[in-house]
Amino acid sequence: MTYSAFFDKAIAGLKSEQRYRIFANLERDALRFPMALWRPDGPDSTPREVSIWCSNDYLTMGGHDLVIDAVVHAARRHGAGAGGTRNISGTHHPIVELEAELADLHGKQAALAFTSGWISNLAGISTIAQILPDCLIISDALNHNSMIEGVRRSGCEKVLFRHNDMAHLEEILQQAGQERAKLVVFESLYSMDGDIAPVKKIAALAKKYNALTYVDEVHAVGMYGPRGGGICEREGVMDQIDVIEGTLAKGFGTLGGYIAADANIIDAVRSFAPSFIFTTTLPPTVAAGACAAVRHLKTSQSERARHQRQAALTKHALTAAGLPVLDNESHIVPVMVNDAELCKQASDLLLERHSIYIQPINYPTVAKGAERLRITPTPRHTDEQIAGLVEALVDVWKTLKLPFHSADIVPLRKSGLAIDHCAYADMKRAAE
Ligand SMILES: *Cc1c(COP(=O)(O)O)cnc(C)c1O
Repeated sequence: MTYSAFFDKAIAGLKSEQRYRIFANLERDALRFPMALWRPDGPDSTPREVSIWCSNDYLTMGGHDLVIDAVVHAARRHGAGAGGTRNISGTHHPIVELEAELADLHGKQAALAFTSGWISNLAGISTIAQILPDCLIISDALNHNSMIEGVRRSGCEKVLFRHNDMAHLEEILQQAGQERAKLVVFESLYSMDGDIAPVKKIAALAKKYNALTYVDEVHAVGMYGPRGGGICEREGVMDQIDVIEGTLAKGFGTLGGYIAADANIIDAVRSFAPSFIFTTTLPPTVAAGACAAVRHLKTSQSERARHQRQAALTKHALTAAGLPVLDNESHIVPVMVNDAELCKQASDLLLERHSIYIQPINYPTVAKGAERLRITPTPRHTDEQIAGLVEALVDVWKTLKLPFHSADIVPLRKSGLAIDHCAYADMKRAAE
């Protein structure tokens, strides 16, 4: 038996299914984002300037002066690392401050920071469910991998409800009965289709059937709500959701994850979750940077407003050009290709011919046949750059003979933002 052959076989399988992932080697420019230096693979690879259109640093807080200053200051003052786990010398002042800031953001008694959002879901869901006797986990069918892993790790019985289907959720809650412990886990904003959960209805159903609620607000914190508390803040239901989970790596531009909840829930997770206990704390630099981002976005509306504007403008312009944008109410702009190979080719063409970087999204991140380019405009993408994107995508669609919609039969969603009819024409002129 040669061990090596098994690895080759596993990789060959991925390649034959068009699922083999190729990472783009990028050097983001903190000052000039979305511009970055791309280093293609291969012997004579000259670095090229490209623009990034698929970053989850949604508000570009990773390049914000306040955040960078906080990171640099913390490094000078406290050094590069935390020096230990939370229990053994690693509870540094910046992480304590960060947790207080996060608890306040969500109007909760306490918060707990983890090394990533992925880990916070693993630790949060599994530990909470394990502490409840005979807990039934009721989980949205489209929940993120980190939530699925948390559910699995708990070892508890789980049942899926159809995505955002309130009648199905109610049926399951009713069947489980008032007495049984129940944990409803869901996301507020689903990042691939960009659709938003009916958080008010979920909170009301959970109350009616006496269930605990756990929401992943990863794609909403910093970006929605008057203080960046997410969709639950915007909908006025933060106090009716028991556990709010978020990331510091997307809207807040740094790294780490957290949960916010009642003090005794936080204390229990702190005390029992191995993925919190047996790992080194986030460094003071990261905690200080994240804290600066959270604080800033509690009062500043300009990043949120400009983010929504640029996302709405991108959707509007792409749809007007006949490109198949999946309609939704959020900042996510999915352009559907519905074929793995063509999706990869579209992405390659954009990069090579137009210096535009959009990673193809294939299975298992989305279902087979639902492959797409997932575009995430930020406040720093200019109207001119958006116009350039539209031109480039139209060229790629024509080159690959991908289907266009007829622009006049596609209804344009009222974005709620004042984007006049001439926006696209103006942008085209500006780009010329
Ligand atoms: C990205 C993501 C996470 C994980 O967050 P990280 O901080 O990147 O580990 C969790 N939930 C959802 C829905 C996500 O998209």
